[in-house]
Amino acid sequence: MKRVTIFGATGSIGQNTIDLIRRDRDAYQVQALTGGRNIERLAADAVDLKAKVAVTAYDAHYQELSEALAGTGVKAAAGEAALIDAAEMPADWIMSAIVGAAGLPPGLAALRKGTTLALANKESLVTAGPLLLQTARDHGGTVLPVDSEHSAVFQALNGEDMDTVERVIITASGGAFRDWPIEKLKDATVDQASSHPNWAMGQRITIDSASMFNKALELIETKEFFGVRPDQIEAVIHPESLIHALVGFNDGALMAHVGPHDMRHAIGYALNHPKRTKLPVERLDLAQIGQLTFRPPDLVRYPALGLARDIMDIGGLAGAAFNGAKEMALDAFIAGQIRFTEMTPVVAEVIEKMTAERLGNAAVTLDSVRESDQMARKAAQSAIEQQR
Ligand code: NAD
Ligand code: MG
Repeated sequence: MKRVTIFGATGSIGQNTIDLIRRDRDAYQVQALTGGRNIERLAADAVDLKAKVAVTAYDAHYQELSEALAGTGVKAAAGEAALIDAAEMPADWIMSAIVGAAGLPPGLAALRKGTTLALANKESLVTAGPLLLQTARDHGGTVLPVDSEHSAVFQALNGEDMDTVERVIITASGGAFRDWPIEKLKDATVDQASSHPNWAMGQRITIDSASMFNKALELIETKEFFGVRPDQIEAVIHPESLIHALVGFNDGALMAHVGPHDMRHAIGYALNHPKRTKLPVERLDLAQIGQLTFRPPDLVRYPALGLARDIMDIGGLAGAAFNGAKEMALDAFIAGQIRFTEMTPVVAEVIEKMTAERLGNAAVTLDSVRESDQMARKAAQSAIEQQR
C-alpha cells in the first residue's frame, strides 16, 4: 500500500487528488489530510479515507475539527507546527496543494524525510527553487511537477538529454479577459476575473490567470525546475488549452503534450510515476476539435509577463519578493481596494524599491525567503495605500 498525505486537501487540486485515490482506495493508506476553514469537507474526507490525522492550518478551527472527528478514530490537529508534523509522518507520496507561500515549509519538511513531493504549489519553486531542489538532493527526496504545463514538459523530456533542449514553450489560455478591449480591463470586477474560460480552479489561481500572474509564476517555475535559461523559455496563448507545453530540441523537433483540460491527468501522472496507469480523463477526438490556435501574448494586456522576465534575470530572492507582493496585490484586488490593472504596478513598484542588486545577490534560505516575502508584503501594503 502506498502511504499518501495531501496538503490542501479541501482545495481544487486536493479534491481532484482525492477523487483519484478514492477510485482505487485499497491501494492507499492515507496518512494526513490538511485544509483551512472548510472543516466539514476536511472531516468528511478524512473519515471516508480513514486518514490517521486531519489538520486545519488555523488554530481557531481546532475545536470545530476536533468535534467533527470525535469518535471516528481520526486525530484532529491545527496550526503551522501541526502541518510540519503531518509532513514528517512516514509517507511514500505527498501532494503539495496549499495555495501561496504557505506551501513552502511543509514541502521542505517532507523532502527532508526523503519522500516524493508532487508539487502543485508552484509558489514553492518561485520563492525558493534552489532551496527546495537542494533539500530534495540532500535527503534523497523527489520533486514531481503537477502544474499541467510543467507535467507536460516533464513528460516531453522523458528519456531525452537536457543538452539537446533548445527551448521550452508553455501555453496559456489567456484567462477571462483574453478578448476584452484593453481599455475595459481597469473596470474588471472580482467576479468577472474569477471565471476561467477553460479550467475549474481555486479563485486565486483563476484571477492570476486573467492577469497572467499565473503564467508569470509558471515561467519562473520552468526556469527553476528544469534549469533552463530565461531566454529559452516562451509562453504562447493557446485558447483551446489542449496542448499544455512543448519542448524544442536541437534537431528542430517540437514534442508537444496534448490532453484534455483536466488536472487529474497531471496529478495521476505524478501519483503513478514512473509508470502510466489508466486515468478517468476524457480521450480527445482530434477530428471533432478541428483546429488548435496560437497567438503571441500581448505585453500591454499582460504586463505581469514582462515583470517575470526581470525576475528570472535577477534571480536569488527576486521570486520570493515577486510572489509576496503579488499575493498582497491579489488580496487587495479581491477586497476591492485596488483595480485589476493596478496589481502589476504595485508589484513592479515593490521590486524596484527592493532593488535588483540586493535581491539577486542573496543566498536563498528559508529565513532569507521569509524575510524577502515579509519586506515585499510591507512595501506592497504602502504601494496599495497610495493607489487608494
Ligand atoms: P484552492 O484555493 O482551491 O485550495 C487551496 C488549499 O490550500 C485549500 O485546501 C486551503 O484550505 C489550503 N490553504 C489555503 N491557505 C492556506 C494556508 N495559509 N495554510 C495552509 N493551507 C492553506 O487552490 P487550488 O486551485 O487547489 O491551488 C492549489 C495550488 O496548486 C496553488 O499553488 C495553485 O497555483 C496550484 N495549481 C492549481 C491548479 C488548479 O487547477 N487548481 C493548477 C495548477 C497549479
Ligand atoms: Mg498551470
